[in-house]
Amino acid sequence: MQDLQKNITAVLEALKYSPENLPLKKHAAQLLIQAGRHEEGILHLEEILEKESDPDTVCLLAQAWYDQGQFRKAQACLQRITGETTAQMLMLAAKIALALEDPQEAADRYEEALERDPSLEDREFREELQQQGVKAKARMKVLEFQKDPSDHDLERPTLTFQDVGGLEQLKENIRMNIIYPFQNPDLFRSYGKKTGGGILLYGPPGCGKTFIARATAGECNAHFVSLDIHQILDFYIGQSEKNLHELFETARRHAPTIIFIDELDAIGGSRQKGQSPHTRALTNQLLNEMDGIHSDNRDILVLGATNTPWFVDSALRRPGRFDRVLFVAPPDLEARVEILHIHLKEKPVEEIDYVKVAKKTDRFSGADLRAVVDTAADMAIREAMKTGQKRPITTSMLIQAVKEVKPSTLEWLSTAKNYATYSNEAGTYDEILKYLNK
Ligand code: ADP
Repeated sequence: MQDLQKNITAVLEALKYSPENLPLKKHAAQLLIQAGRHEEGILHLEEILEKESDPDTVCLLAQAWYDQGQFRKAQACLQRITGETTAQMLMLAAKIALALEDPQEAADRYEEALERDPSLEDREFREELQQQGVKAKARMKVLEFQKDPSDHDLERPTLTFQDVGGLEQLKENIRMNIIYPFQNPDLFRSYGKKTGGGILLYGPPGCGKTFIARATAGECNAHFVSLDIHQILDFYIGQSEKNLHELFETARRHAPTIIFIDELDAIGGSRQKGQSPHTRALTNQLLNEMDGIHSDNRDILVLGATNTPWFVDSALRRPGRFDRVLFVAPPDLEARVEILHIHLKEKPVEEIDYVKVAKKTDRFSGADLRAVVDTAADMAIREAMKTGQKRPITTSMLIQAVKEVKPSTLEWLSTAKNYATYSNEAGTYDEILKYLNK
């Protein structure tokens, strides 16, 4: 507190010499408010606004009035903002509206704020809204908040594309199809493009489908929720559909959200494969959720993943559902070099010939490469235990490890080749053929 006082004195002193320095004035106002000297702070902010109309200053002033319990003044102040409103401004508008006993307005602004920045979620405020909302018989939107949002399912991944080696073409595709539309929804909509929907990732196991789905959420700062199909299927009939519905509802409340469904073939398996009535009901529920007839699916993206795309029900591929299908191929030489770098990062290594190792790992998946690194690390640990000295991982350990780990994509590639050659309707598997012909 003493530091704050000293700071204030210094800044006010400096202001005497350059009273026209508006950023300095704003800083002084912020410090004064922080120290509880609201009235003085407000005075400075008003003087700034007489000279320039800056939305951030308006917002500070509105917040100061709000803190003083002057809700009408705070509201009038926010109304002066003409340009784009930020999530913080909307949140403040929501709080002011609630203080002015207008819970519906508060709920609408709160929801808008969360749409832009889900991290502004404020449980206490929501509870207050519920109490007020019930009294005021607010519309459905407010009532929706009353449901238990099972928010624990939501993640905010920190993984980004930098953590995913190779897959450059796929990353570019994801940028165009997912990230840019999420970041610029209005622009994309104005060209008739959609921002949500479904994308199916397919390819051999261990090549990074789950990994890239998580990194996609990290790249666009979206929530991520992963659906565990087997856990959902374990529930008794009727409950699975309800769980699936609740998961989508949670995702909608916290949009933008990426819902990841691994092993999509387990619920969206082709009908010819003979589904049980239980799975069929679940497939239908998934179709209903994706069609979003009764709900707002903007900014909800469903990423499905499967190793067996040929078993995925064709109903799931219709427009509005998983209408974009992307191949996640085994990493090429360049990508393998990158993946080795990623997995060896932060491990004790001797100068490694990455290209040499990568050349010996044709058809290895990303997961196989991780296994190679783990095996080499075990060798280094064994030597360290024997000698009592720290041993780095070396190129020859990695080459030795390559012999112990078998590439896991071969079987998949031979099955995929059959499907791509003999049942490639509408060219769905052209990418596999292109890859195999390389
Ligand atoms: P899939 O979902 O395709 O079966 P995963 O995404 O679960 O495969 O990948 C398994 C593990 O393999 C990941 O957790 C990661 O450690 C490693 N991996 C796979 N692909 C890559 C990649 N492109 N870059 C870095 N690591 C990868």
